Amino acid sequence: MTRHVAIVGAGVAGCATAYGLEDADAEVTVFERRTEAGGRAATRQREGCSYDVGANYLTAADDRVQQLVEGPLADDLVAVDGEVWTLDADESIAPGRDDGAPKWTGSRGVADIGPALLDPTDSDVRFDVDVAGIGCDDGTWTVFSNSLDGGDGTGAGDDARAGPFDDVVLTPPAPVTAELLRDVSVADSLRAAARSIEYRSITTVAARYEESFEWPYYALVDTSKTLDLGWIAREEAKPGHVSGDGSLVIFQASPQWSQRHQHAEDPALADAATDAAAALLDVSALADPVWTDVVRWKHALTDDGIATSVRTDPADAGLHVAGDWVAGESRLNAAIVSGLETADRLAERT
Ligand SMILES: Cc1cc2nc3c(=O)[nH]c(=O)nc-3n(C[C@H](O)[C@H](O)[C@H](O)COP(=O)(O)OP(=O)(O)OC[C@H]3O[C@@H](n4cnc5c(N)ncnc54)[C@H](O)[C@@H]3O)c2cc1C
Repeated sequence: MTRHVAIVGAGVAGCATAYGLEDADAEVTVFERRTEAGGRAATRQREGCSYDVGANYLTAADDRVQQLVEGPLADDLVAVDGEVWTLDADESIAPGRDDGAPKWTGSRGVADIGPALLDPTDSDVRFDVDVAGIGCDDGTWTVFSNSLDGGDGTGAGDDARAGPFDDVVLTPPAPVTAELLRDVSVADSLRAAARSIEYRSITTVAARYEESFEWPYYALVDTSKTLDLGWIAREEAKPGHVSGDGSLVIFQASPQWSQRHQHAEDPALADAATDAAAALLDVSALADPVWTDVVRWKHALTDDGIATSVRTDPADAGLHVAGDWVAGESRLNAAIVSGLETADRLAERT
């Protein structure tokens, strides 16, 4: 019998879950609070430039992700041109971080990856739906959201809902998922595990320059994790991302720096980041961008994961979780694999 599946969140994990269910006997509805798929695989556009403001690129560390790269994603991806070098605590720069594995982004940005998985599916995708909670009654699941309307929702309002669903897959970052589970008794252990996951916050500053910085690397990563900026990358190393002359540089501030500047207005924060970059690399022109753009990620990265055992009882009841925090690694590859594996388990239930 056809199973009705709700997926909350259209980041790459949610999109991969929908993709993996395409051949299963399942009717899939995806609820995403933003107006587009991708989540932390996010890209912005400005003045003819596309720039990745969350994840920088995908590496296909898993065979199944490699198959996606060579298959359904192939038309959308471009390889980043250049290596990642290291920046040490003493601010010295050295080659050595890059293992030569291809680094993939979308031709319009890394935000292409989610839609490339989701769009070919028959899933009913509801954007602009901020899910407030889920409930289980008599073995079926209901999704609650004040922003639901139309379709099988009961209409916008305090108790607007969609369902019934046989299975629900939650993919938001762990603290959000824990909150969605607050009234679900079968998920007590899962909720506690999700609550225990700690994230680092990261602020991204994109800065456009008249000058082209001719560096011998695509990006620098602070391996010591002591500097104010943890990541500095030239977006023009991504084919098709930057039109015209001049560099577009992505700065990702360290969690400590991001925390210290959390109350700063965007222009002041961008000034502080570009000043820090100018001092760090001893390139004064970095302090003088044409324009800047700031994105703050509260739940950016985690190294924590959860034990498989806390997922067993909820999964038997039709409640599943997927995402980088489930995999225990904040990488696109890990989040995609988590989504595909969740789809495998769901397909076995159809
Ligand atoms: C600054 C930064 C740099 C990074 N760099 C890299 C990198 O270079 N390479 C790499 O591999 N990884 C990188 N990552 C990590 C990578 O982006 C994540 O591991 C991956 O995108 C996680 O995907 P996900 O689907 O698990 O979660 P998310 O992308 O967070 O997706 C969750 C989705 O759920 C939606 N959602 C949340 N709450 C609700 C709700 N209540 N109702 C409905 N929808 C909801 C969100 O809008 C989102 O679309 C980086 C991340 C950041 C922030």
